Amino acid sequence: MRIPFIAGNWKMNLTLSEAENFVKIVSGRLPDADQIETAIAASPLFLPSMIKLSKDSPLKIAAQNCFYKDNGAYTGEVSPMTLKDIGVSYVILGHSERRRYFHETNKMINLKVLSVLKNGMSPIIGCDEKMSKIKSNHHMKWLDNPVSEALRGVSAEDMSKVLIAYEPSWAIGTGRAASKEEAEDGCSLIRTTISELYSPQIADQVRILYGGSVSDKNVANLMQCHDIDGVLAGKASLQPEKFLKLLNYQ
Ligand code: PGA
Repeated sequence: MRIPFIAGNWKMNLTLSEAENFVKIVSGRLPDADQIETAIAASPLFLPSMIKLSKDSPLKIAAQNCFYKDNGAYTGEVSPMTLKDIGVSYVILGHSERRRYFHETNKMINLKVLSVLKNGMSPIIGCDEKMSKIKSNHHMKWLDNPVSEALRGVSAEDMSKVLIAYEPSWAIGTGRAASKEEAEDGCSLIRTTISELYSPQIADQVRILYGGSVSDKNVANLMQCHDIDGVLAGKASLQPEKFLKLLNYQ
């Protein structure tokens, strides 16, 4: 049984007081974590305050990125060890905006995944359409496999902490979400890949999210798909009432 996971990715939006206000509004109105898990990925500047405000609620706080070293001479970077220390639960890694604007490679993302796991947090690994899958005979195939690259060296045991988000770049922020079929195709290809890399049992446990123009209008449809265990919403997560609507998809 995979518990549904509904997460917001605020990107570089909101102010500290807006972030705090959001947590105050949603905290008492969330489903129990054994029904639906909820998380918000925010700017590192907001994290300590959000963690404090959400401590008695099922809301989990996530980072949107981090470096792969715990400390040292890496000006401007955020350490995974300090994220863990302040109480961060999840870290989004390899989001398509990180790949596009900050030239993050699969190799870099893999190092970050290993480091986040070593520090006892869960990575949410972004897989973008550019990673190129092709459709042949109605079967999806990778041209270049970002999932196996990101998971290099990740133990079977640690796979229970890994989440993967299928986020086609053409659907991110465009208002044009993937159709239910397209989203399910991408997510099931990811599950098949995990099955080949690990085992069908492990593939069956891993939660796979869809992201890209998710809204309260399409979330219910997406959540019906067998291989979609949750969503990663950008724009639709910025306002508390809108985010709460995503949780009421059932
Ligand atoms: P969007 O962003 O919902 O605004 O398309 C999703 C994401 O980038 O995670």
